[in-house]
Amino acid sequence: MFDKVLIANRGEIALRILRACKELGIATVAVHSTADADAMHVKLADESVCIGPPSPRDSYLNIPSLIAACEITGADAVHPGYGFLSENARFAEVLEQHKIGFIGPKSQHIRTMGDKIEAKKTAVRLGIPVVPGSDGGITEDAEAKRVAAEIGFPVIIKAAAGGGGRGMKVARTEDDLSYALAAARTEAKAAFGDDAVYIEKYLEKPRHIEIQVLGDGKGGAIHLAERDCSLQRRHQKVWEEGPSPALNAEQREKIGGVVARAMSELGYLGAGTIEFLYENGEFYFIEMNTRIQVEHPVTEMITGIDLVNEQIKVAAGSPLSVSQSDIKVSGHAIECRVNAEHPATFRPSPGMVTYFHPPGGLGVRVDSAVYQGYRIPPHYDSLVAKLIVHGRTRNECLMRLRRALDEFVVDGIETTLPLFRTLVRNQDIQNGLYDIHWLEKFLRDGGMGEPA
Ligand code: ADP
Repeated sequence: MFDKVLIANRGEIALRILRACKELGIATVAVHSTADADAMHVKLADESVCIGPPSPRDSYLNIPSLIAACEITGADAVHPGYGFLSENARFAEVLEQHKIGFIGPKSQHIRTMGDKIEAKKTAVRLGIPVVPGSDGGITEDAEAKRVAAEIGFPVIIKAAAGGGGRGMKVARTEDDLSYALAAARTEAKAAFGDDAVYIEKYLEKPRHIEIQVLGDGKGGAIHLAERDCSLQRRHQKVWEEGPSPALNAEQREKIGGVVARAMSELGYLGAGTIEFLYENGEFYFIEMNTRIQVEHPVTEMITGIDLVNEQIKVAAGSPLSVSQSDIKVSGHAIECRVNAEHPATFRPSPGMVTYFHPPGGLGVRVDSAVYQGYRIPPHYDSLVAKLIVHGRTRNECLMRLRRALDEFVVDGIETTLPLFRTLVRNQDIQNGLYDIHWLEKFLRDGGMGEPA
């Protein structure tokens, strides 16, 4: 097992990793930018190192600074969290060259899955169903037209290097196609420095359903059921729940089995998520995330398995502490991503949190690095807290979420709490009847008063 883990991240996920390390008896090192000197992860870690100025490029993404921090503190492994360097294959390789453990997958799997075209090819090879589309990248308009004619309009053009919902353009007719292709390439080049794009059938009313996996890197792999992340704004998840209101136990076992077998064949190491769109009873692979995800607590609440603890163990070469037959889905969990944003316009609202009172009680979990008097810096993402609620049934979970949201007080900044208080009372949400477009339409129709 590792003796000392350096956490190459900030915010709530840095705290989450810190907690797992402490429970395993592992010493912790926090790193921080100059803007984060007062951050909670710095206060709670055994040691801390300042790795640079506020800009992520100069601090949390700065590989030489992180390696130096490991060497100064004698950390024998790094946990990258999510975002930042978590899906950077080169970072994993550099750590390996320095004989420092990386708490994540093998670098070749990060690289393959980070390129969505390669990821899709790999999924096909492993027997995972994919969205119909081009076999590889598309460069010529004529080729785009040929593929679109074959799969039928509407189609979506996506960036091979895509992430965070950027670099996607929908074309409804052949006339839209050249423009969509050019726009997607320009956006992809600007956002990711890589203009490779591919084409897929655009699904009109799918749900976003993803399967959590864990692998030991030696062919042992299990699935931990699904999360439904259909409630999105600008392709970004807002509310996640598990199990999905759209699946029954048989469907869950079937897709879970396909995914676990694929991960076993791949020899996948650590935690990962296989993301699907789900429409008319069919699953279509869209991508794999080779890291712990923001919404992982949903799975932890319904399975009782500490995913970060398992990540650390397998990275250290230990076996998984659970087998497929140990995984039982119990009850229902919902996560709300409370952001420092205006609840209707989503304008960022950084600043001083003058009062912070998180909810509590049975089945209520708040993952947050915010405290009263903390100033949210403007340089990073706007996540203030994740509120995760568990109940024995979906109805119990919804009622508990309603009361937890009403208890939650964050003053001094705008947050998206009012949005969730509205959503939890909405009939469609209560009935579990929503797809990936539901939330955008709700907001467009003035569901939060002033249209966003
Ligand atoms: P990113 O890596 O940028 O998050 P994804 O491939 O995971 O991109 O897609 C993000 C979201 O975009 C999906 O959850 C879904 O809402 C939408 N999307 C992606 N592919 C399609 C598609 N073929 N049809 C309809 N919507 C799609």
